[in-house]
Amino acid sequence: MIPDSLRLPHEQLRRIQDAKLRHMIALCRRGHPWYREAWKDVDLDAVQGIADIWRLPLTPKRAMMETPQQFRLDCPDLPVPERAIWEVVHTTGSSGDPTPIYNTTWDYHGYLLLNRRVAEIAGIGDRDVIANLFPLTAASMGAFIRSATLAYSCGASVAASLGGAPVAPFGIQKPMEEAVRLVERHRATVLLGVTSFVRRVLIRAQELGADFRSVRMAAVTGEASTPGLRDDMRRLMRELGCAGTIIFDRYGSTESGGLAQCREEADWHNPTPELLYHEVVDPETGRPMPEGERGHLAITHLDRRGTVLMRYLVGDIVSIARDPCPHCGRGGERLVGPVVRTKDLLKVKGMLINPTALLQRLQAMPAVEEFQVVVDRTDPADPFSMDELFVRVAPRGGMPQDEVAQDVAAATQATIGVRPRVTVEDRHAIYDGQQAKAVRFVDRRTH
Ligand SMILES: [Zn+2]
Repeated sequence: MIPDSLRLPHEQLRRIQDAKLRHMIALCRRGHPWYREAWKDVDLDAVQGIADIWRLPLTPKRAMMETPQQFRLDCPDLPVPERAIWEVVHTTGSSGDPTPIYNTTWDYHGYLLLNRRVAEIAGIGDRDVIANLFPLTAASMGAFIRSATLAYSCGASVAASLGGAPVAPFGIQKPMEEAVRLVERHRATVLLGVTSFVRRVLIRAQELGADFRSVRMAAVTGEASTPGLRDDMRRLMRELGCAGTIIFDRYGSTESGGLAQCREEADWHNPTPELLYHEVVDPETGRPMPEGERGHLAITHLDRRGTVLMRYLVGDIVSIARDPCPHCGRGGERLVGPVVRTKDLLKVKGMLINPTALLQRLQAMPAVEEFQVVVDRTDPADPFSMDELFVRVAPRGGMPQDEVAQDVAAATQATIGVRPRVTVEDRHAIYDGQQAKAVRFVDRRTH
């Protein structure tokens, strides 16, 4: 067993990171097409460790999405485990094709280590039964594949519900009811899935009178969730008589893997600081921000062999804490929320709005079961017509529709200063439980 890097003194951890960074840079100089080009004018010998990392230019996400093959390490003389491809997972941007991330055997073992730490930090162990509720998607999704990796890493068992919209003609995919039955049949203890889907499974379980008493945790990911939504899920779990109501809100990315909370609503630990370095930067200057200040998150792979990313801008705004965690004492860095996804900021009627704030407000309304916010032109055929904000809403069963619509309109105006047009619709019309995740915002304007 290798030592737990999260329990090492800061200086000792930093020495390990410095040595790994030097080796990673040496490998990139030999065989990383994109960095060989991007670093042509950089004095790489001056980068001796993390303290010098600012000398490397930032990597825009767009570059990796446009030329993913350029980000694969190509060093044919490496030993087989360091160059044989074990799996390919994809990250999906707001537009365009899914982008492949290549993992070698070496990287897969890194994920096993990362997941073992995630399980340890989040309190998932070898008695747990994990229900993988992630959908089967058109391109292999990291979260689907890594739910098995999580189970293997900590000795838990895992079963998959195989939901999602059909992508091949083999009749493999199953309806949401199967997810409910799978949890019952295996007496699953941990529900692992996309937040809106796990919530819908809890609602469906309630409707079907399913036995969810074995469930003690919902580990959710894949979309921004809010305290209001997580409270609502805890309420559903309580009403179902679940053994526990822990919501483990997973933060991470396909490029980095998952981070872990040591307790509910806490910061996110980087489980493997010897494999991955996080910094918060000013995207204009490339300089790291002072500790505690909010800025753009950049990740650096310290020990990878497939797709390798250095100072890669994930697209999220966070801050970072590097002191020992006040709850568990672990070292390494912690990401501090709220996480703001920059790609989500929208301009509506000339005003820059943060849809996350609206999402948070609408998710916290108990009378709202499903909703979607749509920005469109007043006249869709006329690209110069005014913006219009629509909120499609499905009230919870038995709630007076007109009243809910009025409340939603008032809450929207109060939160982002834009008066919406609210339409009451059936919940399946808004989110049918088949898509990978509920789409909460749609921008139909042509830019
Ligand atoms: Zn902690």
